[in-house]
Amino acid sequence: MPAPAELRRGILIAACSVSFWACGGDSAPDGGELPDGEPRARLDAGVTGPDSTVNMPDSSVVPADASEPRPDAGIIVNGDGLLLRGRAVLPMNGQAPYMPGEVHVEGDKIVCVGPIDACAPLARAATVLDTDGVILPGLVDAHNHVAYNWLSEWESGQLWQDATQWRGSAGYSTFVTPYRDNSSVAPSFCAMVQWGKVRALVNGVTTIFGTPQPRVCYRWLVRNAELTSGYNGWTSDKMRSNTLGIGTVNDMEAQDLIADMVAGDVTAYMIHLAEGLSARAYAEYTELVRLGLLRPETVIIHGTALTPPDFDDVAVAGAKIVWSPSSNMVLYGDTTNVGAAAAAGVSISIAPDWTPSGRDDSLTELRYAKALADERWPGTFTNADYVGMVTSIAAEQMAVDAYVGTLDPGKYADILVVSGGAADPYQAVIDARPSDIRLVLLGGMPSFGDAALVEGHASTPPMCFSMPVCGTDRVVCWQDTPSGPVSPDSVAEVIRGFYPSGPEPLFDCEN
Ligand SMILES: [Zn+2]
Repeated sequence: MPAPAELRRGILIAACSVSFWACGGDSAPDGGELPDGEPRARLDAGVTGPDSTVNMPDSSVVPADASEPRPDAGIIVNGDGLLLRGRAVLPMNGQAPYMPGEVHVEGDKIVCVGPIDACAPLARAATVLDTDGVILPGLVDAHNHVAYNWLSEWESGQLWQDATQWRGSAGYSTFVTPYRDNSSVAPSFCAMVQWGKVRALVNGVTTIFGTPQPRVCYRWLVRNAELTSGYNGWTSDKMRSNTLGIGTVNDMEAQDLIADMVAGDVTAYMIHLAEGLSARAYAEYTELVRLGLLRPETVIIHGTALTPPDFDDVAVAGAKIVWSPSSNMVLYGDTTNVGAAAAAGVSISIAPDWTPSGRDDSLTELRYAKALADERWPGTFTNADYVGMVTSIAAEQMAVDAYVGTLDPGKYADILVVSGGAADPYQAVIDARPSDIRLVLLGGMPSFGDAALVEGHASTPPMCFSMPVCGTDRVVCWQDTPSGPVSPDSVAEVIRGFYPSGPEPLFDCEN
């Protein structure tokens, strides 16, 4: 038997025989020591996937050479943490899946992704989690209104022409009164947002856009794409959002915003735009163009009123589209022409909007979007495209792809595991019901899923609650909130105090 150090050297040499591993030495320059006295390994190789497009090749069929692990530059591996194994691992961005594969997580980061046994040699002290499922990045939701996601669907009984019309209606005013009357009451508002964040987590979302301005009580759980202060892991505030519409932006403000974009101080401008079918909705787009804001940083949420020639201009400008089809269909009876947008080469992500008009969560919206797009624009999107539209593409649009959105070494260990996947792992993701969610890791912390996978790890947050999910039992775990302990039941109880029927259930077991 070789001594441990020799064994590890052998592993590194063997690893050097496949590509992506640069082998300048077998010990870390920093001389870091493992508890057993062995030096850490530093893996040096810059490996990134090709840029994502909406028309990625269908990588559901694994090419024979998809066998290399993908460590990245300058990552120190201690050998502990969690080693997740699954029938399939989906790195995204057009990279071929590993079937089967494994992901090594240490602390809050991914340190290795590869086929089975590629990461294991340097994960000798890691706890192995055999998930028997599909391992993919945690979902990234680029369009939501988290504070509203305790409300049930608004049944207005009619279709509308644009957002201005329904927002000004008596029916909407009545529907939203419980929100309006209680959103200035701190405990009530905290519970509203907490319910929305719990909903995101337990449905596989690990980064979400659309959380209100920061408050301590919900600086917690899933990452808020637009909030900073170190909470997300990304510390520079480079996103601007505009939910009220382009009519709130005057010429001088637009020029200031453009200057910030040119300087690199604003990397994503998330704007609700052209939502609906009317000339008034379309005029929002022409105003955006007039202001000079059709730019690469601009992420158009909806764009329902845009025409095919407009999408050519959007593509040339490098602007993006967030598609929320279920909300569009409920409110307007029609949706964004993403077939034309894709043909023009526009970046498109999928997000659910909010519970009052959209599907209740990203996975349910993904399934809705695929069904609609396959019918209206058959052959436009592959299953791999669809999964990219709720992960890597959404992260790119919001310029947070250096941190989340793919399974790449160095990124946050925000990971989702769903059941199945032996045949087409992307289809397994699209088909996943709430009861198919086996595990969610948030920054390396097992935070939701099967008790057998979540509980008992050093990295599992301390407050765990059992949770029935569409006929199965799961457990959800989190850190104490900065403002004190909460449980799913205590959050629901606060909401019941001003909304007797109680919050919209966390899981959609029907759709
Ligand atoms: Zn919206």
